[in-house]
Amino acid sequence: MKKKLLFVLLLLLAIGMGTGTASAAGKPTVILDPGHGGAYGGTAGYSGNRTGYYEKHANMEVSKRLKSELEKRGFVVHMTRTSDVQFSRISSSADLVERMKVANGMIASGNNDNTVFMSVHHNATSSPTYGGYETYYFDNRYASSSYPPSVLQRHYSPESGRLATNTHRAVINSGVKEGRGIVANSLYVTRTSNVPAVLLEVGYMSNPTEEAMIKQAWFQQKVAANVAKGVDDFFNVYVVNDKNGKAIKHYTSKTDALNYSKTVSGSYVIHKKTGKVDGATKPDPEPVERPLVYGIYHPSVKMKDNLFGTEQEAINEAKKWKNTRVVHTTTGIVLWSNYLPKKYVVLDGSDKEVERFYQEEAAIARAGKLSQASVIDESTLEDDTVWSNFKRKNFIVRSKDKGEMVHLYNREEARDYARNWPNSELYDVWAKKVIFTNTDKTKYSYTPQNIEGSDRLKTAVAVSKLLYPNGFASTKAQKTVVLATSAQYADALSAGPLAAHYGNAPILLSRAGALPAEVEQELKRLKAKHVIMVGGTAALSTSVESKLKSMGMSTERLSGSTRYETNEKINAKLPSADGVFVTAGDNYPDALTAASVAVVKNWPIVLVREGLPVPNSLKTAFGDEVVIIGGTSAVPASLETAVKREIGADGVRRLSGKTRYETGTAAIDFFADDFMSNRLIVSTGTNYPDALVSSAVSARYNAPLFLVPDDAMPSDLTTSLTQHSTEKLINRTYYIGGAINPSVKTTINAMQK
Ligand SMILES: [Zn+2]
Repeated sequence: MKKKLLFVLLLLLAIGMGTGTASAAGKPTVILDPGHGGAYGGTAGYSGNRTGYYEKHANMEVSKRLKSELEKRGFVVHMTRTSDVQFSRISSSADLVERMKVANGMIASGNNDNTVFMSVHHNATSSPTYGGYETYYFDNRYASSSYPPSVLQRHYSPESGRLATNTHRAVINSGVKEGRGIVANSLYVTRTSNVPAVLLEVGYMSNPTEEAMIKQAWFQQKVAANVAKGVDDFFNVYVVNDKNGKAIKHYTSKTDALNYSKTVSGSYVIHKKTGKVDGATKPDPEPVERPLVYGIYHPSVKMKDNLFGTEQEAINEAKKWKNTRVVHTTTGIVLWSNYLPKKYVVLDGSDKEVERFYQEEAAIARAGKLSQASVIDESTLEDDTVWSNFKRKNFIVRSKDKGEMVHLYNREEARDYARNWPNSELYDVWAKKVIFTNTDKTKYSYTPQNIEGSDRLKTAVAVSKLLYPNGFASTKAQKTVVLATSAQYADALSAGPLAAHYGNAPILLSRAGALPAEVEQELKRLKAKHVIMVGGTAALSTSVESKLKSMGMSTERLSGSTRYETNEKINAKLPSADGVFVTAGDNYPDALTAASVAVVKNWPIVLVREGLPVPNSLKTAFGDEVVIIGGTSAVPASLETAVKREIGADGVRRLSGKTRYETGTAAIDFFADDFMSNRLIVSTGTNYPDALVSSAVSARYNAPLFLVPDDAMPSDLTTSLTQHSTEKLINRTYYIGGAINPSVKTTINAMQK
């Protein structure tokens, strides 16, 4: 609590010092950030793979020239990097986080008003003819709870816009070709900068002519000189401050500023670059306002006036609404919610509960302050330990062929793991001995298992029984089932990650008009408490809903007027992730392939269609991995280009093949390391219901779903299945649904030697 208070006080200082003024301590300063570096080259552009000259090189050359131009104009300049280094080796998104710690750390105390941040980049797109100079800045319209801006950036957003306008105009007026112009959006570096910030995309390296120009000194110099001029224009203004030191207007003419100041009592005029004051004597600045740090967020509706000064005020307001959460907008920590489960439990040294949290990071942050603590995830079958500072990952599963495969906290979890790997052993680090050896090849030999019912409804029930043979355990935190219509796939396409998030809920199918008897029976057998209905009343009627309620279960419905709206509602229920899958919404194979990977990686699936605008969830995915599943006939190149323009080309990747089966194997092969399992799931690729309910099996066993045809297996599919079978030592295949051709099963079984 004390830390939080101190933080709020610091914010008060930073904001209360007066906006738009130049304090004595605040010499105008520019923090320059040459994008990428080290392991992260940025775009290779048109010829980088041949020449070795990547975006990071161009970014550095322009930044060095810009530094010298700014210094000539009297600015203090700091650079986040001066050599070819990365900020983190973990991932390019971690790199951005560390980069911004460095950048924000360069702000001299109290000099936020007179410091700006500029990140220098070069762009790329799939069209070799597109090109031009672009400027990006964070605009408050794009604030979202999943990608929260820093409080100070919220405050400085209008100044970021002014910086973008001034620098962009100076460059374009000098005759440099313009691309998309000034773009307001939410990029990680611009939204988390604690000073006015812009990101420059100097040109497109994917355009061969422009790339050649980008490498030339005269062009770099021209851009640098004009950006510096634009920064000067940004600072070279007369700011009219009110009596509290809050900027109310900016003028380029001193006379205009003084004239306006005369009409506002107590106001004064200050020259931003020099800090020279005119008009009334400058009073001591008073804190202007409490920083509004606590935001109320709703899964679908953007609420007006949704920021509060205290946690309690925010919670009181949030309680008036359904499905809300209160988020500390600087840290992104969820403080209260009436729809998210508090499934991360902090335990002390003797495994007594200390506190519960909505998010893993928040629980770990709390646990980290205790000398002995662990965090468990209550939604897992065995309450898995996800973090501990005193328990060791004491159990190592290893084998001769694969070496050490996994380190685990829990003995039983480790034993289960070892049981599934032929010729493996379980080593106990504390006891310093092998406590289990799996050499019993006969007992653990390959077993295919057919999970099927006489129709799609009964197959879904059979899958549910596989997952929960004894129903939900009484201690299971979330006794939830996801219910979708059996009649069409539109609404349920992206339900896999939703089911996985709600304690690996089984997905059951129902007829639209009435709840079928076998589904009713299964819900009772599971002892389900809550049903999430996916789709509107045409898909699952109100009588289905009343029936569920009469059985004593609570229900909620996720539906929109289109499948894309339903998809948005589903994704709003999911926690933020470090990546996202993008697939076509108008066909099922790619989305169902994506689902088996998505549930393992905890990524959402965003459905798109040609002609629709880029969904908001993709506009804010900067720094995340964005993986498109499917070819250009499914997810058109124009959409890929649009996404790249929103968030940069760096993190966007497409995985596809000539057929649905090849697209499936492209995705599974790419993410092969994420499937830590010796199990396979196989379902027909010629219809959707069986594959739809299979994603929960993927989530349970970390196993990939292979879609197979009715007739001959394409060679890519055979290759991928064979490779997967050999590498993962598959000893169990789940054939989901009765529609799989027996000869296909024979072929796959024969691979498991
Ligand atoms: Zn870049």
